[in-house]
Amino acid sequence: MFLNLRVIPEGHSEISGTTELEALKADLTSVDRIFYRAEIDRKSKDIYLHIWYEGVFELQCSRCLNTYKSKISGEFRLVLKELPSNFAQISGDDSADFCFDRNQDVIDISAALYDEIMIAVPLKPLCSPDCKGVNISDKEIRIDYGDQIKAEEKIDPRWNGLLKLKKRC
Ligand SMILES: [Zn+2]
Repeated sequence: MFLNLRVIPEGHSEISGTTELEALKADLTSVDRIFYRAEIDRKSKDIYLHIWYEGVFELQCSRCLNTYKSKISGEFRLVLKELPSNFAQISGDDSADFCFDRNQDVIDISAALYDEIMIAVPLKPLCSPDCKGVNISDKEIRIDYGDQIKAEEKIDPRWNGLLKLKKRC
C-alpha cells in the first residue's frame, strides 16, 4: 500500500482505493483485494492517518479443516513524520510509525496494514459457530480411544491419599 506524499495536501483530506499489499501478498492468504479508506491530516511535517480496511480472506476452519472465505475488517492509526534528509534511515523517530525525508515521493505502509490484518485474523477460525468438526463417521478416519481410556483408569499412585479422603466424604 503506497502513499504518494507529493499529493497529500496540508490539512484534512481523504483517500480510498484497493491494495494487494504488494510484496507482502505472498504471506497472506487473501483471495480478493483489500479495500481501504483513509482520513489524512497533514500538519507541516507530520501526517496523521486513520485507515479503515476490509477484505475477504481464505481461512482454514480449526475444527473441520475446510477452507472458507471470511470478511475481515478493522481500523488503525499511523503517524508519518518528515525528518531531515538522510536522517530518516539512520535514526528513525519513536513517535512515528514511519519516517520519510523531504525528497521522498512515495512511502510504503504495507507492513502496518499487514500487521493489523494478522492481529484481526482469528487464532482459531471457525467456518460457522456451530461447526461440528471433522466428520468421524467418515470411513477414512479412525480414532483409537483405547490408549486414552487406559491412561484415565490408571491413576498416579501419589494421588492415593487424596482418593482415600474422597471416599471418606
Ligand atoms: Zn468448520
